[in-house]
Amino acid sequence: MEHVHSDIRGDLYREAIKMQAEGIDVLKLNTGNPAAFGFPLPESIRKAIEGHEDKAVPYCDFQGMPEAREAIARYERSKGIEGINAGDVFIGNGVSEVVTFALMPLLNPGDEVLIPTPNYSLWSNTILLAGAKPVYYRCDEQSHWNPDVADLRSKVTSRTRAIVIINPNNPTGVLYSTDTLQQILQVARENDLIVFSDEIYDRLVMDGLKHVSTASLAPDLTVVTMNGLSKSHSLCGYRCGWMVISGPRPRTEEYRKGVVQLTSMRLCANALAQLVIPAALEDMETPSAMVRPGGRLYEQRKVTAEVLDQIDGISYVKNDAAFYMFPKLDVKKFNITSDKQFAKDLLEQTHVLLVPGSGFDWPEQDHFRLVLLPQADRLREAMTRMGQFLDGYHQK
Ligand code: PLP
Repeated sequence: MEHVHSDIRGDLYREAIKMQAEGIDVLKLNTGNPAAFGFPLPESIRKAIEGHEDKAVPYCDFQGMPEAREAIARYERSKGIEGINAGDVFIGNGVSEVVTFALMPLLNPGDEVLIPTPNYSLWSNTILLAGAKPVYYRCDEQSHWNPDVADLRSKVTSRTRAIVIINPNNPTGVLYSTDTLQQILQVARENDLIVFSDEIYDRLVMDGLKHVSTASLAPDLTVVTMNGLSKSHSLCGYRCGWMVISGPRPRTEEYRKGVVQLTSMRLCANALAQLVIPAALEDMETPSAMVRPGGRLYEQRKVTAEVLDQIDGISYVKNDAAFYMFPKLDVKKFNITSDKQFAKDLLEQTHVLLVPGSGFDWPEQDHFRLVLLPQADRLREAMTRMGQFLDGYHQK
């Protein structure tokens, strides 16, 4: 456990909860939990559950309900992933759970997995818990936060087993170029590595951009694609995610046996949540309405960018997708030597909670993650307070 960390719900979070208990109105921008900011249960989901509750009473198939897996296979095929069917799908209690099922059967102590920095710490933590070693490849802010493929390539060793891609990315909110994906896949191809592609934000892409599934570009490689309903349909609490294994079948037989052992060991995933999967994957209007002009995610991003533009000492790459940005602080100007101290001072003085860059395994002390989920006026107010806080801030 020594290196396992979750700064999203860490010391600062506990401090914020304490402040709330004392009656202080804290704006918690630490988690990507849309329903906590008033994103409603989609009607499509309500209809899929109401009157059908009895179907979810028994344990279901350990891989997931057949109709749900059929719907997922159809969805992933529609994204261009070839040669997959319901038998290649494993449903879990969120992507958080399937990441364990995906990594554990692959890794031996001392094995290495290439993961991005910054990254969503679920990945680094699960690799550590498997006794393996996360090796960080750098994403380059100057290249719209695309992975630096030369850096990634230089970090392959004889112990490397896999590459993790998070696209669209948390915490940067950017969408990777197809060319970058192709280059990463080439590294995997040359070194016989499995690719894990976390695509949980694929339905929340803005500005007319199109998400390309990693696996659709590499039918010759073993790719494990992760996705789920927490974000696109604001269903974090339902715990509904999945993984799909694609690529030449004979190469994955042994690996699949391990995945089957782990998934069957926990009997089944929450069946109530699986009932809604076919309806959710038919309902693309819910996520589309959030990201088009006039939609909450689009408008909230606009407001955030407008206020950030006014703050001296902050620069940022505007997100293409999801609801995060990873702005940069001018550490010289503010004398910042600890991003945790910055976040603590901000919480105490403005009552805004956010997660510093080091919480995403970012090696420098100069970034933080913003969650763009609150309504536009609340966000504007919080960002304005941050600007006032930074005006004259000098870390001691
Ligand atoms: N992957 C990424 C990149 C995430 O940002 C999150 C949640 O924030 C998850 C996975 C976990 O999602 P789930 O709710 O499906 O466990």
